[in-house]
Amino acid sequence: MINSDSTPQPAFTLLRPDGRGAFVLVCDHASNHVPTALHRLGLTGADLARHIAWDIGAAGVTTILSNLLDAPAILSGTSRLVVDCNRHPHRADIIPATSDGTIIPGNAGLPDAARAERVARWFLPYHNAVEMVLEQRAAAHRATMVVSIHSMTKNMSGQDRPWKISLSSHNDRRFVAPMLRALRQPGDVVVGDNQPYALDPDLDFSIPYHAIRRELPWLQVEFRQDEVADHQGQQHWARRFATALEIQSSQ
Ligand SMILES: [Zn+2]
Repeated sequence: MINSDSTPQPAFTLLRPDGRGAFVLVCDHASNHVPTALHRLGLTGADLARHIAWDIGAAGVTTILSNLLDAPAILSGTSRLVVDCNRHPHRADIIPATSDGTIIPGNAGLPDAARAERVARWFLPYHNAVEMVLEQRAAAHRATMVVSIHSMTKNMSGQDRPWKISLSSHNDRRFVAPMLRALRQPGDVVVGDNQPYALDPDLDFSIPYHAIRRELPWLQVEFRQDEVADHQGQQHWARRFATALEIQSSQ
């Protein structure tokens, strides 16, 4: 579904701001909203429903996890094609020219002022909301693990992906190792470990900025989109992931 501009779209959604669980959830690619003034970025509605515009199913999984874990959750309010909330602001690809082979006409030759406007309208309020939640918890001496929730397409560049769920940990194995054990324990699915994405601190923004900089524990997860496309799948994977989180946080 693509939102219309009949009511102003908020830059972010904040769920359970005072949640008492040990986790704070961030969902950088929750929405495929494109403001009417940007004319769908020159794409079709079908393109904006695809994985290039957002992480299909990620908002649903995040919302269910927020309830299961009593965790604050911050969800971005716009498409990653408008501005990518998981890219450093100085990077050119924060407003991507292409995505998985699709050219984004509305992002071609964008003047600096228009780029800055998108960052100010969407990126900064979203990340300020994450900061506010983390600072409030730090002030209250509440332990926090930051969990970054993404979803990945089943097929990328003509290749099918075997992993139904993947953890991206870069080189920080502290929390990912027990999570991998817990997720793999039933033995029924292939769980990705730094594949297809390893998390790159020079490329990814949310975990480096909010968690690594603050020396907070963190995890980044990718749910495969065909697994979380509907509510039933979202519930199944949210429960499975929450159970693994609770096992590892109790160790
Ligand atoms: Zn994502």
